[in-house]
Amino acid sequence: MKDKSLQVAIKAISERGLERSIDLGPDWFSQWQEEDPALEFSTAQIKGKVRLEKHGRDILVRGHLQGHLQLACSRCLENFVLPVEGDFDLLLAPGPEQISSQDEELTAADLDVDYYSGELLDLGAILREQIILLMPLKPLCTEECQGLCPRCGAVLNQEKCACKKE
Ligand SMILES: [Zn+2]
Ligand SMILES: [Zn+2]
Repeated sequence: MKDKSLQVAIKAISERGLERSIDLGPDWFSQWQEEDPALEFSTAQIKGKVRLEKHGRDILVRGHLQGHLQLACSRCLENFVLPVEGDFDLLLAPGPEQISSQDEELTAADLDVDYYSGELLDLGAILREQIILLMPLKPLCTEECQGLCPRCGAVLNQEKCACKKE
């Protein structure tokens, strides 16, 4: 399932550049959940702007994203809402090889250089990558989250259990 509004024809990028407003809601995020059921994004909302500029054969993608994600806390496993905001600059070079977005995603993002091929640019894949970069590796609902009791599994933010602390 691809969102047509996130497909940009490369020849539509004029000399002055092209700007797109981004408004990603639960429908868009639900595609991710099909791939990874651990991602529970039912209330996620990301808005922003993306600007595309041609520099020779390269395409510079600059974006600003702001909104919130719903993540599971890595300590207590409860869902919580995380506000996120970030800018990104990404250079897309014409790539001879089709990058498989799953294997190369992180490497390419690390270098801030990615590749495009064909006539269409899939902004959706780019945005997905950038949103993943906005996500903490170990999300915490609060810095002070007490997590779960390793013995009885009680959510220690909400209740005190009778287990002795070691
Ligand atoms: Zn927590
Ligand atoms: Zn306990």
